[in-house]
Amino acid sequence: MPRIGVLALQGAFQRHIDALSCLGAHPIPVRLPGDLAHVDGLVLPGGESTTMSLLLGTSGLAQPISAFIADGLPIFGTCAGMILLAAEVLDGRPDQMQLATLDFSVRRNGYGRQLASFEADVTAPILGIGDTNPFRAIFIRAPKVENVGDGIEVLARLDHDPVLIRSGPVMASAFHPELTPDLRLHRCFLASL
Ligand code: GLN
Repeated sequence: MPRIGVLALQGAFQRHIDALSCLGAHPIPVRLPGDLAHVDGLVLPGGESTTMSLLLGTSGLAQPISAFIADGLPIFGTCAGMILLAAEVLDGRPDQMQLATLDFSVRRNGYGRQLASFEADVTAPILGIGDTNPFRAIFIRAPKVENVGDGIEVLARLDHDPVLIRSGPVMASAFHPELTPDLRLHRCFLASL
């Protein structure tokens, strides 16, 4: 049974825990550095990246998680979790801390603020998510990916903008896959372990 850490400082972590349990994994809420011991992968949930950044500093988790990512362990970052992985954050706070510097840039709230939250069908053919069975993606104050470098694989787009990307063992979505009953993306993440 894979042990999957779920960053649980703030935000939408509980539904990730539920989704992972449903798929037979062993989710571990991560609040302190010791919680990272023996985890096989890590989920960075949605929430508020500026608040999460602050709590990552006070909890002492920023450095061990960055090291975990640099070591190549599988990561699934969703929404604010995606923001924490980007090399460049536009419209962020100047002191906002990053857990990785993957080769993409992202604009916070790039699709608009809370009232502009929306749902949309997305397809990710490489993952077997096609036109006949799209993924219903929920975007809440979602980050917009504005540039991706060569090392980034775009798995899904909405209009022309990447909304699901992968870089080796790291996958990131601009939307909240844990808020739908569709567990395909979590299954895909577990399959990458
Ligand atoms: N706009 C939020 C941020 O900047 C992300 C929103 C979300 O995770 N649903 O962190």
